[in-house]
Amino acid sequence: MNLINIKNIKISFISIVIVAITGINFSCSQPISEENNNEQYSGKHAKYVFYFIGDGMGLTQINSAENYQAALKGKIGVKRLSISKLSTQGYITTYAQDRYITGSAAAATSLATGYKTTIATISMDGKRQKKLKTMAEMAKDKGMKVGIISTVDIDHATPACFYAHQPTRNMFFDISLDLVNSNFDFFAGGNFRYLTGERNNKTINLIDLAEQKGYKYINTKQEFNKLSKKSGKVIAIGPVLAEGNALRYSIDQTAEDINLADFTSKAIELLDNKNGFFMMIEGGKIDWACHANDAATTIHEVIDFDNAVKVALKFYNKHPKQTLIVVVSDHETGGMTLGFAGMGYESSLQKLKYQKVSFEEFTKTINNLKKNKTKPTFDEILKLIKDNFGLGDKEKGLELTKLEKKQIHNAYLESFSKSKKQMTEETYLLYGGYEPISLAATRILDHKVGIAWTTYAHTGTPVPVHAQGVGEQIFKGYYDNTDVAKKIMAVMGVGL
Ligand SMILES: [Zn+2]
Repeated sequence: MNLINIKNIKISFISIVIVAITGINFSCSQPISEENNNEQYSGKHAKYVFYFIGDGMGLTQINSAENYQAALKGKIGVKRLSISKLSTQGYITTYAQDRYITGSAAAATSLATGYKTTIATISMDGKRQKKLKTMAEMAKDKGMKVGIISTVDIDHATPACFYAHQPTRNMFFDISLDLVNSNFDFFAGGNFRYLTGERNNKTINLIDLAEQKGYKYINTKQEFNKLSKKSGKVIAIGPVLAEGNALRYSIDQTAEDINLADFTSKAIELLDNKNGFFMMIEGGKIDWACHANDAATTIHEVIDFDNAVKVALKFYNKHPKQTLIVVVSDHETGGMTLGFAGMGYESSLQKLKYQKVSFEEFTKTINNLKKNKTKPTFDEILKLIKDNFGLGDKEKGLELTKLEKKQIHNAYLESFSKSKKQMTEETYLLYGGYEPISLAATRILDHKVGIAWTTYAHTGTPVPVHAQGVGEQIFKGYYDNTDVAKKIMAVMGVGL
């Protein structure tokens, strides 16, 4: 949720929303804990563990990707992703120690350590005094090689919870220092948030420090392709980065990019060894696209994440008796649902194919126009929206209604009005702090295909777990997010 510029928000309603999202203030009531079903595991241990976390990926995110792929073939139904073809399913509660609707840090702490914690805390107890050992650290102690991969910046909350221990997720530089001191074998994805920082009156350059600690730091495709087992410990950063030093959204990627599946393949190549490996692979931008209520971008992110799961499955097929794959989510984001009041019982997900870019890329286009001296006409904006989203194109079945044109016009006034407007409760509900024209365009397209959203934040709904391989049977059922960690630890033969 850190992409939203919320500096200018003044009113108390929005402050409440900000607190809810960032967790800056929180009360410390103890959660009501149901009995957990973490049965004893006495089976054999997995040598290879793939732990996939789809950030913000609830059931609807998975299902809408499957519906979309079926709809593209003119069918009603699902064309299943590899994720939902895994042989065992369960589902989990996601609440944090101090809030029903969790955040990525508290959730990932549970998923990495087996303990509940407070909002924004990175693998420490709820009072932020005690470090909680993560399964990645346990795997490393056991002699396994460890890889951490994410589509977002590598010091972001979810990956951080596997190698860092810090009081809050916003301490990016401290988290990065934990990364270079972790001695883990492979980090990949988006870059550090800050490359330099001050400590004890000295400027520390993270890349220099990483190299001193024995890491090879690379950020070009050429260097990436050359990586081999001989490379030693590696930090591999995507050659093209977007907002927040993350990889670009899948919908915006070209042959220049390295995607999550590429990083996963490389991790297997580099980490495979006689003691086995543990890797955590995060689809971090599913969440970001859902915060922005952008369905097409979300679906492309889910498919991109699924492609990384496919890479793990290929490895599994070679080592079925030694491998465990677990795919889980930390929470649902956006309150995404299949069905919109304005569409009644109708849906036509195939029309999402007319969206050519993510909301982020489209926002760049609008922001560039804002730099010009002459403001674009409304017709020029309508043409841009037609070119990028198909909206207003009768032949595509996306003719705009009077109401929709009015909504775009209101967004146009909001974006290009001369006086700088402050965000109000109304504009927050309409645009969530995002660029108004971008938000209006994705909102209208989503409604026209039958997808709706309830929030720009996370929701408290349970999320699915999918597993296949060694010990998969213990992932069946309905349990808590902390149990996922306990179960994986049990199958790895480490931990609690
Ligand atoms: Zn999250």
